[in-house]
Amino acid sequence: MDAAPQTATPSAEGPIGAKAFLDQLFTAGVLTETGVDGLYGRSGDFEEVIERFEALVTRYAGADKAERIHFPPGMPRPMLEKSGYLKSFPQLAGCVHSFMGGEADHARLLQMLANGEDWTELQQATDVVLTPAACYPLYPTVAKRGPMPEGGVLFDLKSYCFRHEPSQDPARMQLFRMREYVRIGSPEEVRAFRESWLERGPELIRSLGLSCEIDLANDPFFGRAGKMLANNQRDQGLKFELLIPVANEKPTACLSFNYHQDHFGTLWGIQQADGAPAHSACVGFGLERVALALFRHHGMKVADWPQSVRAVLWG
Ligand code: AMP
Ligand code: ZN
Repeated sequence: MDAAPQTATPSAEGPIGAKAFLDQLFTAGVLTETGVDGLYGRSGDFEEVIERFEALVTRYAGADKAERIHFPPGMPRPMLEKSGYLKSFPQLAGCVHSFMGGEADHARLLQMLANGEDWTELQQATDVVLTPAACYPLYPTVAKRGPMPEGGVLFDLKSYCFRHEPSQDPARMQLFRMREYVRIGSPEEVRAFRESWLERGPELIRSLGLSCEIDLANDPFFGRAGKMLANNQRDQGLKFELLIPVANEKPTACLSFNYHQDHFGTLWGIQQADGAPAHSACVGFGLERVALALFRHHGMKVADWPQSVRAVLWG
């Protein structure tokens, strides 16, 4: 760390705490407050950092020739119901509701609104749920194509994702973007894909002047049964995360590397070329989290970031 004079730019050393970091981001105009925790506006610089980071990810993945598909941030409700998401993460799911009444109901709604009453009971669930992870809409899509070609398939996805986990930690948003590569094929192909990203991920992050480590992880499965699922996931080494120190004592998971075995292959009927259920794995980049790590370590003004970092992003 160079001995730069103290300015509004935060010190990158040590845990300053999530709330203090959030306040710095608001003050610097990197994020804009909306009044709801985890729901923020992003500055032009913030967006440009994400664009440049994504271009870097694409360069790392370049030779892999992934098929790009972008789904909207909402997906069919029956798809989420079948995926098992509500069994594992009911606390995070979001369902879009809409007004479907007639004129009398509308008058009631306006009256409730004027009285400051809860008008949302006049809304009903639509066929749309908010996408919780970029890869969820992919599996049924691939299944519909029929048996996969020899060698399997690779996809490049990106979506805004919703998770109901309001927090004053800027790295825990309710709406955030996930870039993902998803490999579907034989167990060997899928494991080799995950291994390759477990090597590339840290290299890519360190090239941006950020320190990181890889650790075994588990998803936040709900309830008592969820504890067993989490233990099982750890015992089998199904999830790893790339952790970067951001603002908290504990470093923040910015990338994740997930091996689903044949879970989605069996659930959706995705077949390998020989008819066996396909295996799958995904690597997810938390785009806001990576951008936040960069702002935290290199300062609130992108123009003042170290030349070496700028060269990697803008080079
Ligand atoms: P996961 O499916 O939980 O492994 O999430 C994939 C990636 O998305 C994580 O590695 C994070 O970088 C990012 N992510 C997960 N939850 C959030 C959140 N609430 N806010 C911002 N980024 C998130
Ligand atoms: Zn995924």
